[in-house]
Amino acid sequence: MANPTGWKPSMEKGAGSGADPQDTGLMGATRGLAVEEPLVFEQGSPGRCAISLPAVPEGSDPAAEIPAALLRGEIAGMPEMAELEVVRHFTRLSQWNWGIDTGFYPLGSCTMKYNPKSSEALARLPGFAGAHPLLPGSMSQGALELIWKLERALSEIAGFPASVMSPAAGAQGELCGLMMIRAYHVARGNPRHKVLIPDTAHGTNPASAAFNGYSTVTLESGPDGRLHPETVARAMDEDVAAIMITNPNTLGIFESHIAEIAAIVHAKGGLVYGDGANFNAILGVARPGDMGFDVMQYNLHKTFATPHGGGGPGSGPVGVVDALLPFMPLPVVVKEGETYRLVTDPAERPRTIGKIREFWGNMGMFVRAWALIRELGPEGLRRVGELAVLNANYVRAELSGHYNLPYQTDTLHEVVFDDKLQKEAGVSTMDIAKRLIDHGSHPPTVYFPLVVHGAIMIEPTETESKETLDQFVAAMRAIAAEAKADPEALKAAPRKTVRARLDETRAARKPVLRWTPGMKVE
Ligand SMILES: *Cc1c(COP(=O)(O)O)cnc(C)c1O
Repeated sequence: MANPTGWKPSMEKGAGSGADPQDTGLMGATRGLAVEEPLVFEQGSPGRCAISLPAVPEGSDPAAEIPAALLRGEIAGMPEMAELEVVRHFTRLSQWNWGIDTGFYPLGSCTMKYNPKSSEALARLPGFAGAHPLLPGSMSQGALELIWKLERALSEIAGFPASVMSPAAGAQGELCGLMMIRAYHVARGNPRHKVLIPDTAHGTNPASAAFNGYSTVTLESGPDGRLHPETVARAMDEDVAAIMITNPNTLGIFESHIAEIAAIVHAKGGLVYGDGANFNAILGVARPGDMGFDVMQYNLHKTFATPHGGGGPGSGPVGVVDALLPFMPLPVVVKEGETYRLVTDPAERPRTIGKIREFWGNMGMFVRAWALIRELGPEGLRRVGELAVLNANYVRAELSGHYNLPYQTDTLHEVVFDDKLQKEAGVSTMDIAKRLIDHGSHPPTVYFPLVVHGAIMIEPTETESKETLDQFVAAMRAIAAEAKADPEALKAAPRKTVRARLDETRAARKPVLRWTPGMKVE
């Protein structure tokens, strides 16, 4: 045990090398007492304990009182720690994390906006937090009413007659949408074999198509970053089940030919799937249902300010047109008079694709999304879309010239630069992203979308102030200047963090998932 107390200043260790970056004042820059935290297994001391239990009465044997099946023997290597050690360990680990409440998080396509704390309070109301989906409907009226009202609101906002509420993520919404598309074609006698997907698409699009047994055809976008009707017309035939389009696309560019493209696909009996992950850009301004989309997932954890969960619950409801209503998965909430009812029996919906997941979806996410929609109202939702676009365009204007813009087309909620101007000095997108960490910002999305070599994809969202955007711009400009003056310093970034650059390939190829006593983790 090299360091039983668990902490030491990171600077002393010298995680990286190179000069301090110029101070651009971004909040939360990593300085001061950053800690080096050992594994929990490397801490504590035999016999130490974090709980106090009453002494065992003389002559009694607790093991004899507990059913044998619930007893277990020694656990090899189990840490024995005092309460304060446990608290410090987990508190420190929590501080190694970066979240939207910590600082700027311009992760393109992910819409890392602020999640209001008032929504958190509402989601924790016992009636919602403790709602059990197996309770009889008479005892769940409030929860069912909220799901029903949110479903109505989302459908209205996006322009669809109805929405499926249960999917747990954007990707699961896509899967669900493609399952309904397949069921629709099967009901018409032929499931078809192909799905068209533009080259700017998120990787989950081809995955969702493949999961449904479709082969994918990649469509090349034009020099303006848009998908063109001629490209779709050339690829479209009666074996194409659907086209999947993100609008605005992952370059942040609005697909302005969408109505024409939808008409081409519909004319040959295909359906138009909308990847709604970028809905924030057009919220309250335009409705995908009006553009010709037949089905689209909403990412509540992007557009509707529910947490991105750290691997926890997301929510990806799916809007559908009338032709797909019979195939919606169960359960669905219906309103009968003044009563809400959960339809779970396939006998009531014989053409349902079945269950996409158990129960009704992630209730806590519904509460947060509903709270946001009620708080903002139609005008407020429109302001969200407008400000998201304004903020992205502000960053775009302030950074052009300092970074190369591969597409000159106007963008909406996010902007994609690349590392072309820095490449001459041998500086790559990865170096730029790592240096931003030293300035106190989470890096943007990098190397996506794949059509842009060395992409740097910035999405500030509407919830950031001008001051934060200015600090970010100053940091990005300082990095561009450093790339010219001292490229080697950039290659050594980040140097203010506890760890410098990790070997990402090794971490992915040879993950260490189980600790065994005596093992040394580097
Ligand atoms: C985030 C995202 C998805 C997937 O959504 P998840 O909720 O992460 O599963 C799909 N498409 C695009 C364009 C996205 O940005």
